[in-house]
Amino acid sequence: MAEKRDYYEVLGVDRGADDATLKKAYRKLAKKYHPDVNPGDAEAEKKFKEATEAYSVLSDPEKRKQYDQFGHAAFEGGAGGGYGGFGGFDFSGQDMGDIFGDLFGDLFGGGASRRRANNGPMKGASLRAVIHISFQEAVFGCEKELEIKLKETCTTCNGTGAKPGTQPETCPRCKGEGQVVYTQQSLFGMVRNVQTCPECNGTGKVIKDKCTSCHGSGYVTVPKKIQVSVPAGIDDGQSIRIRDKGEPGKNGGPRGDLLVEVQVARHPIFQRQDMNIFSTAPITYAQAALGGDVRINTVDGDIIYTVKPGTQTDTKIRLKGKGVPSLRNKNVRGDHYVTLVVQVPTKLSEEAKEALRAFDAACGNRPAAETKGHEKKKKSFMDKLKETFEE
Ligand SMILES: [Zn+2]
Ligand SMILES: [Zn+2]
Repeated sequence: MAEKRDYYEVLGVDRGADDATLKKAYRKLAKKYHPDVNPGDAEAEKKFKEATEAYSVLSDPEKRKQYDQFGHAAFEGGAGGGYGGFGGFDFSGQDMGDIFGDLFGDLFGGGASRRRANNGPMKGASLRAVIHISFQEAVFGCEKELEIKLKETCTTCNGTGAKPGTQPETCPRCKGEGQVVYTQQSLFGMVRNVQTCPECNGTGKVIKDKCTSCHGSGYVTVPKKIQVSVPAGIDDGQSIRIRDKGEPGKNGGPRGDLLVEVQVARHPIFQRQDMNIFSTAPITYAQAALGGDVRINTVDGDIIYTVKPGTQTDTKIRLKGKGVPSLRNKNVRGDHYVTLVVQVPTKLSEEAKEALRAFDAACGNRPAAETKGHEKKKKSFMDKLKETFEE
């Protein structure tokens, strides 16, 4: 592997440079070395790529942190725990698109100009789908079947799009190149702008007699059943990536991926926050006062919990390991927090009322009948009169 220059050195900034400084430094270099300004200059192109790579890393706080810690090793296959798929910069990929959109949208007009010819192998676009699962299924994982419409190569024409017995012809507009070149006046003088040929959409071929099965697209849409393994611990709004079940690739490129968004239904009792579950459980006044066993719902089923005598309402208890499993390791689980709520009875039998009065008296409280102002029915007119004068 060729010796790589330090990213800060490439941009000519010091290690503490802020975002604005980085952007300014990159903009300056990009203007100078941009391939549109230096057509055919390999050295300039190399410099441009070097600067772009440096900027794309340093302008991303996560990547910059990794780079500061591990240097270039952070992004080389596996070493230093770098990002998956990040090793080796893809100059036709998204990294570049983002930077162009960000920096050159105003300079080059019309935003990111995809300069790479469209007739190289390209990965297909991602497809999206949504599945709905229950709270319990999210906690413990589940298998779901999903039906999607997948584009498959048309078997009538073998994907050429041309009627059997005929062949696609070379596009007269771009002469099979798939792209057309415009020159345009810009900030830097004349700029060559390469665009996808509008006649053949970059394929370089036009079809005169279209295949009747696929109407010339080369693809037919087939309903496909897809098995989705939902991992234990998934949360509402998270997506599962299923490789090679997206749109077909172009020019021999791989299929895109299917991204399945998971929507988790609300639970009548449990609420979830990350790996923890929250709920409330009622306990009776007697249980709260005397202590005792109460039945509590958890995702693992009911458990018996022994409350301490003198438990106050809103007491929170933690049921360790009764929460949601970690997506990375289902043996690691969060906790379940239960708020105990003491219930005040609203309907009491005569017997229960009597017992409560006796209880109240035993606690040293005066019976209600002896309290002034209450139980008026039992008082005589004279009593009331007396009270009036006493006040
Ligand atoms: Zn066909
Ligand atoms: Zn064309």
